[in-house]
Amino acid sequence: MEVKLANKLGFCFGVERAIEMAERVLAQHPEGVYSLGEIIHNRQVVEEFSRKGLKVINDVSQAKGIVLIRSHGEPPEVFEQLRNRGVEIVDATCVLVKRAQQIVANLANEGYRVVVVGQAEHPEVRAVLGYADDVICVDTPEDLKQLPVGGRFGIVCQTTHSPEHFGKMVGLIVARGCKEIKVVNTLCEEVRRRQAAAIKLAREVDVMFVLGGKQSANTRELANLCAKQGTTSYHLEGWEDFSPEMVSGKRIAGVTAGASTPRWVIEEFVDNLRRFTPE
Ligand code: SF4
Repeated sequence: MEVKLANKLGFCFGVERAIEMAERVLAQHPEGVYSLGEIIHNRQVVEEFSRKGLKVINDVSQAKGIVLIRSHGEPPEVFEQLRNRGVEIVDATCVLVKRAQQIVANLANEGYRVVVVGQAEHPEVRAVLGYADDVICVDTPEDLKQLPVGGRFGIVCQTTHSPEHFGKMVGLIVARGCKEIKVVNTLCEEVRRRQAAAIKLAREVDVMFVLGGKQSANTRELANLCAKQGTTSYHLEGWEDFSPEMVSGKRIAGVTAGASTPRWVIEEFVDNLRRFTPE
């Protein structure tokens, strides 16, 4: 079938850098390296790194030797605990995530009550929340009940959210009543470009495939945005999740992929779909 690709898709520079750092440190230490959490939200990449000796740990108490901090970053107390354990830290926190962390600290120093628009359980947000005291995390209009009315708020956003969602939440905070707000745009431009390309493509095709890990926030956001264009959209981890009914009666398929989806997953999917003839 005819398959079109988004003009921006797949690995971002933050993920590429984390992968390069992991490969370098594993080449120097074939005995094994620990990763605090999975290196990226992509099953295939995590499995490949596991074969190369990258061992995933989920708690600082398991850390020893060399520990990789993934692109999502960690709160300051985790770095402190790792240093106290005497481990060597390889910090692959994305520069844009570091920037968001620094902005949170600066806003708090300037006297603002910091508000992070993001998913509280997402690792990047969990880390960012650690860079100031009493940070409030909101992601839905109901969450805004936590905000004291009439405060001075310093607002940032999870890097992978859409500009529309961030703008809507800021508008609701103003509408609720506040003395002052300072909004700093911490959205990731890499993600925004992928979102804009996915929206454009979703409007041109009969069915959209969004490739990436089910845990990947930016991939989920891409799938939501494609579905909002009124196009049937599927979030798949790879060709193994494809089934023929998905393209039944469709002529043109669009493909995009999250910032943590490797190129080979995209190529395998596209090659197979191009060879496939829908009923
Ligand atoms: S999506 Fe953006 S913020 Fe996240 S790792 Fe990639 S470049 Fe960095």
